Amino acid sequence: MITAIYPGSFDPITNGHLDIIQRAATIYDRLVVTVMSNSSKKPIFSLQKRVEFIEKVTGDIPNVTVESYSGLLVDFARQKQAKVIIKGLRAVSDFEYEFQMALMNRKLNNEIETMFLMTQSQYSYLSSSVVKEVAKLGGCIKELVPESIEAEVIQHCNQK
Ligand code: ADP
Repeated sequence: MITAIYPGSFDPITNGHLDIIQRAATIYDRLVVTVMSNSSKKPIFSLQKRVEFIEKVTGDIPNVTVESYSGLLVDFARQKQAKVIIKGLRAVSDFEYEFQMALMNRKLNNEIETMFLMTQSQYSYLSSSVVKEVAKLGGCIKELVPESIEAEVIQHCNQK
């Protein structure tokens, strides 16, 4: 049984993230989506809310669970007996950072592999930051985030 973890800040989850989750869930036996709380990014959604959103939109995928973690990713992977860390790649700009992280994680624990899934072209421009910016300025975020969380994302972004 192969367990994979998919880490990120998910502030909030977008359709690009969800696509990676759906695809990874067909490859691995168990996928643990992990909301990391120690990212250098300043989230606008609380950790609980980010977890709740992901649970809501992945509820129909039986081998996906959602957790949060603050600490070293490789330690969490070891705890979960995960062999694989999943990362999504959008553009060349993602590559340098992700390459560095993958090599550092390998140095910290060489029993865990980082596997990259390419974004689908329709999501290649999509990031949580873009969603927040568009929502804040009153633009339409339909098709950028799952429908079931759209209204709450808009409402929250406009309070800020
Ligand atoms: P961001 O704030 O940049 O959206 P996250 O830290 O939440 O990023 O992203 C978690 C993971 O998902 C990272 O591996 C990131 O490269 C990947 N990812 C983010 N958006 C997309 C997308 N639109 N398509 C594919 N992968 C993505």
